[in-house]
Amino acid sequence: MIKNFKIGAHMPISKGFGKVPYETLEIGGNSFQIFNHSPRVWRSSLPDIKETTKFRKSMEECKINFDNAFVHSGYLVNLASPKEEVWNKSIKLLIQEIKICELLGLKYLNVHPGSHLGEGEEFGLKRIVEALKLVFRETESSNVVILLENVSPKGGNIGYKFEHLNYIMHAFENRIAVTYDTCHGFDAGYDITTVSGMKKLIDEIENTVKIENIKMIHLNDSKYPLGSAKDRHENIGKGFIGISGFRNFLSFEEFQNIPLILETPGSNSEHAEDIKILETEILCKL
Ligand SMILES: [Zn+2]
Ligand SMILES: [Zn+2]
Repeated sequence: MIKNFKIGAHMPISKGFGKVPYETLEIGGNSFQIFNHSPRVWRSSLPDIKETTKFRKSMEECKINFDNAFVHSGYLVNLASPKEEVWNKSIKLLIQEIKICELLGLKYLNVHPGSHLGEGEEFGLKRIVEALKLVFRETESSNVVILLENVSPKGGNIGYKFEHLNYIMHAFENRIAVTYDTCHGFDAGYDITTVSGMKKLIDEIENTVKIENIKMIHLNDSKYPLGSAKDRHENIGKGFIGISGFRNFLSFEEFQNIPLILETPGSNSEHAEDIKILETEILCKL
């Protein structure tokens, strides 16, 4: 492989955290993302010492850098929710997820900013900042960084443009950075398939959150055309971004050092296939 790209996928934790680094090597990766509890329920428990020791040991054995291992927050978390109960539960769960990250030695927790559910973007943005203030206050001694992911512009979502992410990020002095998802960005009209589209994207990033604050790329193709706002991920090369689109995106040095994490359809075997395509059809031909 040319250069030292950091590549991986969203990995299952059903066989325990300790299996994840080994399965990452098996699919050809050196980086990964996981949920740190079941993502569809509010309930979650802290891993015991046996489990965390096993995980740290397998990270070492597989030589995976902890900075290239990410956690994605659960699906139920909505820090912008106007519903008091959901908002409070979201804050609680995020705090719990931060605690699990600490036990596992993982530094980055990726979060969707949230949906205002019709209350408006200003309401949503303020609500998210308020929620994160409480989260950070409760986890003051933690080094875990929240990564705000750009999302698809649908369902009252906050965070489909960098201006939103920047507003939230700058309400805090530290512990916040950004994830860029290529499918969500494509949904929102960021055309990474052309040189002019890339220049526009980079300009916008530099005028807001800055490239150095992007700590992870979610590398997903899109089942729908530019600006569709559908949030339907596709396997690499099979969607509207396509092989040439990803070649264009990754030919920009700004993005070559950031871990590329697949959230494409399928599980380990499909991700192994996507990684192969990424290496042989895209990275080798930059
Ligand atoms: Zn996500
Ligand atoms: Zn994503």
